[in-house]
Amino acid sequence: MNILPRFLYIFQTVPIGVPPKFFALLRTNLLKFIWNDTHPRVSYADMTRHRNRGGLGLPHLELYHTAALFLKISDWSMSPPTKLWVPLEQKCLKIPITTLPWQTAPLTKLISSPNPLITPTLRRWRILKMSLSLSTHPSPLTPLTFNPLFPDGMSHHFLPLELDGPYLTLATCMANAAPRPISDMLRQDKITPLTHFRYQQLTHFIQSLGPPQTVRTDESPFETLCTRDPRPPHLLSTIYGSLLDASTPGLPAYAGRWNRDIGTDISDEDWGLIFQTAAHASRSLHIQQTHYKFLMRWYLTPTRLHKIYSTTDKTCWRCRDSPGTFVHIWWECSMIRSYWDSVFTIINEITGLDLDPSPLVALFHLVPIPTLTYRNSLAIQLFNVAKSLIPRKWRLVTPPTIWEWIQAVEGVREMEEMFFSRSSKYDKYHVIWYWWLDFRTQRSRDYAPQLVPVVE
Ligand SMILES: [Zn+2]
Repeated sequence: MNILPRFLYIFQTVPIGVPPKFFALLRTNLLKFIWNDTHPRVSYADMTRHRNRGGLGLPHLELYHTAALFLKISDWSMSPPTKLWVPLEQKCLKIPITTLPWQTAPLTKLISSPNPLITPTLRRWRILKMSLSLSTHPSPLTPLTFNPLFPDGMSHHFLPLELDGPYLTLATCMANAAPRPISDMLRQDKITPLTHFRYQQLTHFIQSLGPPQTVRTDESPFETLCTRDPRPPHLLSTIYGSLLDASTPGLPAYAGRWNRDIGTDISDEDWGLIFQTAAHASRSLHIQQTHYKFLMRWYLTPTRLHKIYSTTDKTCWRCRDSPGTFVHIWWECSMIRSYWDSVFTIINEITGLDLDPSPLVALFHLVPIPTLTYRNSLAIQLFNVAKSLIPRKWRLVTPPTIWEWIQAVEGVREMEEMFFSRSSKYDKYHVIWYWWLDFRTQRSRDYAPQLVPVVE
């Protein structure tokens, strides 16, 4: 989608707060464009999920804007700052800018003059860090020095510590779910009645943050990501991916419906394999589209139409015998089963695999061989094409024939041959397609339609 770089440029160069109404309007217009002003058949949440997690990878512009704001947390964590505007932002603050994301005091106690760049970032961060479990309360990075909630520790001279960073973090003062003993934190010659008193003040403040057993000393992946110095490459995309995954945990809604329809619980791990294979199933956009439409239950089956319009017939249009559910139309119908049985027999003969006919193999690409091997095999191409013919015969009594399948596979093979020839990988093409070419030459005519002799 080429509008994404245009938005990202603005989000990154002007990282100010944007009203949620703006994103709601943007989303409405995007959906109108994608669905041509009709009712969406796939939820926005499923469309914006990552493709490896069962989505379509549609950019979630509000989360991209949030990721652009959260880049500032990384800017603030660099020592010395790499961005020229960070010292300017520091001038608006009462505390070191590095501590800013990990402070829990009200914003008025942190910022001395309003700033259009800092305030929206902090507000968004405070909302999302807990709701998306990006950080915890208290965070291991919570400042104990330069924390307005602990006024006695507002300077480096609070305790004569040998500090590594620009401020004292909560994690450095904790060990075994308790504040570290004073003898562990200070050299023996530095322990005086005054430092002992200050140590007591410090432990009292730590206890006010919550039960010591609940205080984490290890950073969350998101905290590590934002504080890594130097900054990791492609940080905006990584932050966006983390936000997206955290905002859509678990499986997409359609996975549960498939589990119910098929009658077997496909494990989360197997769904992961299904999504990974779906994202790389074919170079053909048409076949990819068919696969995603199938996975996301885009097609309107007789039972679904019957739910919308009660006057329509809910039985299968082919056999007129059973309700036309998703599984029936694609797999269980007696008229489509003979097609699938022939497809499995030929694929097993050509590839040497011993795959039992199953909807999980034929429709979901859930095969008992390593995913990477399967993705580069002939079998995935053949199953893809076999499946893509079913929507072509939608609402027709006759199912696809093996001859039509052979012709459609030939179309894909020719495109694959052109692709591999252009990238000078003809050997790879030959390894994948050799046995198909052999089958086409030797036996494909057995499946050609019989010509009916004309009676004069
Ligand atoms: Zn049927």
